[in-house]
Amino acid sequence: MEHKDESKLCIVIVPGTKKVRRITIEPWLPKALLCSIALFSLLLYLSYNWISASISRFQEEYENKTHIARNLEKEISTLEKISLDKDREISNLMATADEVEEKIDETDLLLKDIEGLQKQLEKKAGITMASRSSMLSRNAALRNLEPEESIGNLKGVLDEKEEELKNFIAEIDNRFKYLESIPNGWPASGRLTSRFGKRRDPLGRGTGFHKGIDIANSPGTDVRAAGAGVVTFAGSRSGYGRTVEIKHNSEHTTLYAHNSKLLVKPGERVQRGQVIAKMGSTGRSTGCHLHFEVHKHGNPINPLKMLNR
Ligand SMILES: [Zn+2]
Repeated sequence: MEHKDESKLCIVIVPGTKKVRRITIEPWLPKALLCSIALFSLLLYLSYNWISASISRFQEEYENKTHIARNLEKEISTLEKISLDKDREISNLMATADEVEEKIDETDLLLKDIEGLQKQLEKKAGITMASRSSMLSRNAALRNLEPEESIGNLKGVLDEKEEELKNFIAEIDNRFKYLESIPNGWPASGRLTSRFGKRRDPLGRGTGFHKGIDIANSPGTDVRAAGAGVVTFAGSRSGYGRTVEIKHNSEHTTLYAHNSKLLVKPGERVQRGQVIAKMGSTGRSTGCHLHFEVHKHGNPINPLKMLNR
């Protein structure tokens, strides 16, 4: 190595056999090189830190996003389920609405039939019931309501109708009971021998008031209740002989006199046409006959005006 200039460095390369090579470099170059390496290392270090921080930030963000996405997916599937349920509910409601409308139609027809029958029965039984006009119009208005409301209202209409029919049946029943109780059935077969009203006394002198009619027939002929009712007397009575008395309703009572035998007891309920005694001639009587009286509000009336012809 040879030193011509102190300020310069000289590197000599000896390859062995061939010519020796010499490289001369500036003395600041190694320092600059070291500084560059240090600077580069620093930059590299900073870059690495920044990149790794970024990566972890991205990773965190990615995880957050994934989490959110997963939640969203869950929410979407829940919403989809709800939507399916709603669809099902709507189709169920539509089916219910159809059913309700059908039921309303059926009920309408039934109510019309029932009202027709009611009117006929009212006419036949001679009774009048409270107006029912609101029923059908209320029912017709059901169509405009929601199915649940319609069902509730339909139930209301039907309950009301049921109540009304119960009252109607009770009224008809009362009417039939009253009709059954009217004493208009002939109490015995035979010959009409004496009428109601003033007449000559058959057993004495002068005139008297005949409070009933007399029907004559052979002894033991059936004596029947003229209408349904309750026996209020069955026994012997002065002048009348063996007698039965029946209370039919709040206005009518009947009396059957001169019987040979009584077949009912006080308190017994009897039907129209039921045999209650046997014809005889007990009491103040001229021969075997039935003396029959009808009383209205306690006063004797002409039985022939009551009896069926
Ligand atoms: Zn008489």
